[in-house]
Amino acid sequence: MSADGRFAPSPSGPLHLGSLRTALVAWLMARSQGAGFVVRIEDLDPQRSRPEHEATQLADLEALGINWDAAPARQSQRLELYDEALGKLHAQGLLYPCFCTRAEIREAASAPHGTLAEGAYPGTCRHLDALTRRRRIEAGERFALRVNAGSTRIDWHDRLHGEQSGFVDDFVVVRADGVHAYQLAVVVDDAAQAIGEVVRGADLAESTPRQIHLQRLLELPPVTYAHVPLVLSADGSRLAKRDGAATLAERDESPQATLALLAHSIGLASGRDRVEAAAELLAEFDPARIPRGPLVLG
Ligand code: GLU
Repeated sequence: MSADGRFAPSPSGPLHLGSLRTALVAWLMARSQGAGFVVRIEDLDPQRSRPEHEATQLADLEALGINWDAAPARQSQRLELYDEALGKLHAQGLLYPCFCTRAEIREAASAPHGTLAEGAYPGTCRHLDALTRRRRIEAGERFALRVNAGSTRIDWHDRLHGEQSGFVDDFVVVRADGVHAYQLAVVVDDAAQAIGEVVRGADLAESTPRQIHLQRLLELPPVTYAHVPLVLSADGSRLAKRDGAATLAERDESPQATLALLAHSIGLASGRDRVEAAAELLAEFDPARIPRGPLVLG
């Protein structure tokens, strides 16, 4: 059976070349197998999400001929689903309040004995007793909710990078500002939308062990993964606004010329300086041709 695909942008700005390339690969992976494809708007963060960015992102995808099967779902309209999943985790006794600030976590995780990956939670609040927790909550301290992940290690297969393995820290499922966390929402939605294959940027690969662990806790069906290498600016740093020419609107060329550039970067449309629409790439598409390292814009 074919595995439905998705592209799940956060509407915090226009899509840059790295995101457009990921969207193109996700679409080609799904459509080349005759599978469905949806776009999901990950707009849970009220500070960063803007409807005008959503509109620009969708228009840019359309300009490249990337289409989707149903009206894009918005995470901000699916909060009950996330609460339901939280209820299941709570019933298993797996949630605990975490009062740590970012700075405290950084400090604890970088202690000399620390073997944790960057950004991993060292477990500071995991063993607070019930009375301490209650007192701190009653005193009005801000807290996030974390899952006690029990130091689990997860092995998985990435369609582009082969066998992978990673440690699951106690990750956040509700942020200190009350917003449902990305890890929770993405897992719930991929299952609810019957996604079979998750294709996304390589910067999210470090989240995959957490998400597989969460799927198992919530008894959701497994999905397969492919993490698309990032696009970097000439100096090797992450693409940013200062790079100019990083979004369709900033590029001094037609979307069809940008599509040709993206196609070349995944081993397609050799010798062509325009590709009218993504569908023209379907016959030639082969994941084996996608370079496994980052694309550095020159
Ligand atoms: N919303 C995430 C982002 O824009 C992507 C989530 C995912 O593909 O799993 O970075």
